[in-house]
Amino acid sequence: MDRKKTGPHEALFARAKKVIPGGVNSPVRAFNGVGGTPVFVESGRRQKIRTADGRVLTDYCCSWGAMILGHARREVVASVGRAASLGSTFGIATPAEVDFAERLVSLVPSMEMVRAVSSGTEAVMTAVRLARGVTGRRIVLKFDGCYHGHSDAMLVKSGSGVLTMGASSSAGVTAGAVADTLVVPYNDLSAVKQALAEHGGDIAAVIVEPVAGNMGIVPPADGFLKGLRALTRAAGALLVCDEVICGFRFGFSTYSALYAGVVPDLVTLGKVVGGGLPLAAVGGRAKWMRQLAPTGPVYQAGTLSGNPLAVAAGLKTLEILEREQPYARMAELGSALAVGVGTIAAEHGLPITCQSFNGVFTPFCAEGPVMCLADAKACDLKLYAKVFHGMLDRGIYIAPSQFECNFISAAHTDRDVDEFLDRFDDVCACI
Ligand SMILES: *Cc1c(COP(=O)(O)O)cnc(C)c1O
Repeated sequence: MDRKKTGPHEALFARAKKVIPGGVNSPVRAFNGVGGTPVFVESGRRQKIRTADGRVLTDYCCSWGAMILGHARREVVASVGRAASLGSTFGIATPAEVDFAERLVSLVPSMEMVRAVSSGTEAVMTAVRLARGVTGRRIVLKFDGCYHGHSDAMLVKSGSGVLTMGASSSAGVTAGAVADTLVVPYNDLSAVKQALAEHGGDIAAVIVEPVAGNMGIVPPADGFLKGLRALTRAAGALLVCDEVICGFRFGFSTYSALYAGVVPDLVTLGKVVGGGLPLAAVGGRAKWMRQLAPTGPVYQAGTLSGNPLAVAAGLKTLEILEREQPYARMAELGSALAVGVGTIAAEHGLPITCQSFNGVFTPFCAEGPVMCLADAKACDLKLYAKVFHGMLDRGIYIAPSQFECNFISAAHTDRDVDEFLDRFDDVCACI
């Protein structure tokens, strides 16, 4: 299908590029992984987004999972409106942030205390500093292709937009920061064992995405997370589960609690728990959390941390999730979609494996299974770009990069899945 050469998106992008680096405020939005002009969204409602050229698309990005209830859910909008009318931030403690902390502590077994921050990046940055502060050790071990936000320590062999750039690290990250970060392959317990054996006394923490989401979705192998728990405990290192995507996405708590049976020392949350506003959290054992300022020596702060506006969105989102428990249905839709994609691709002789877990999916352009970054990198990125643009031309927005997840929200329906598969079949026929 012909894509218009000039239109509202081209005009907006031209303006944007003059005043915003690359025209975007987060790299993956620039479509570098798939080519073409990025779309600009004017509004969203439920599972649909309306773009600046007047098209309505079915959205499988959902702000990278944050909009688990769909866009502009009425009760959330009302709750945020009420909070805004009462003052959106004070720089003084508010009752709502106590409610938010109590809620998370009651729902996440490993969280005895929690601190609110404004982004997943901050939550992880705080967890890493805290782990170093309480252990007095310098090294953090992470997994190749896992993304933990854009703090220096975490930009070594990172996933998500960093992968799309083709950079395994970032300029501006010092050799010292790189030296303090060890990277091993995801799902490779023996590599962890070896790293701990070599550097054990220096390792402050092992940080992991319990289900890796930022190289496309890669579930943990059997025993991987339990193995990490046992190894970190033996080495005196903290286990940090970065559940910024996973938390409250696959069920009404964290992945580590609901699926892995693992009690991490620290957990980071973001995306879903912020209800679409800038709100994230880091929590864990009280013994560690008390080491944060003002009770402890590890500094951390934030002008907008736990502000009543963001907390209103987060609390209302959690309340609706608890009441409606959309998880089983999202999982059903997700597996119908993934199975359908696999079947259709096979019929067309295309090497596409759709991996999914409970409503989160990635169509990997490879035979699969994808178990680690090396597998993900072996994907046919040109084929992915064709699938992406084919779907976009037909009214469906999937992630503009192979190294990301797609998200089914509580607002998606059976009809959306049918539509997806119908369009995907058509796209495959045209490739
Ligand atoms: C999105 C994400 C982050 C960073 O969160 P921001 O709010 O974008 O800073 C950290 N960790 C994981 C696992 C993520 O998916």
